[in-house]
Amino acid sequence: MKLKNKEKIPKIIAVSKTFKMDHISPLVEYGHLDYGENKVQEAIEKWTDIKIKNYKINLHLIGKLQTNKVKFAVKIFDYIHSLDNEKLAKKISEEQEKQNKKPKIFIQINLGKEVQKSGIVEENLLDFYKFTKDLNLNVIGLMCIPPFEEDSSQYFSKMSELNKIINLKELSMGMSSDYLNALEYNSTYLRIGSNIFGQRS
Ligand SMILES: *Cc1c(COP(=O)(O)O)cnc(C)c1O
Repeated sequence: MKLKNKEKIPKIIAVSKTFKMDHISPLVEYGHLDYGENKVQEAIEKWTDIKIKNYKINLHLIGKLQTNKVKFAVKIFDYIHSLDNEKLAKKISEEQEKQNKKPKIFIQINLGKEVQKSGIVEENLLDFYKFTKDLNLNVIGLMCIPPFEEDSSQYFSKMSELNKIINLKELSMGMSSDYLNALEYNSTYLRIGSNIFGQRS
């Protein structure tokens, strides 16, 4: 695949959720710097010590964040990919003030308008983005998880279009099964788990 030269080289987030550190550490030792986890508690247990030793490691929260865990999430995560409501935005804003640490944030978009899925519906994106600006959040991009069992290309294409309205730098999209599609639509952060670490049990 050829990337047009105006495009940035995408980053790969190695999604290490559910895997034990002895399975992950060869990649850490190799020097890979970006890792994704979907649970705050699991991330604290696995990554606290390693992050002290390897201060360049970036931890990405790719799963749903409950407001009562924001305090811990802001502490350990460098990126939050799942901002999807005002209450959560307010809480992150409070916490980043208190800790003097500003995570980089993605607004999660619910493109399929699936009721069970997290995310802002596209019609509300502009208002929500303004809201996050007023709270001084460091929103750097948009994130999506397309509905399963559907061709994700149409969703990635929509994300790319949607981002033209607000012009953020980053797009977090593409997983093991569809990252090549995501690259065609200017994804800048691929979240790849099983292709790197093997099947999760
Ligand atoms: C688990 C997960 C991934 C990685 O999935 P793979 O199919 O193993 O690559 C990516 N994004 C999110 C939000 C996930 O929860």
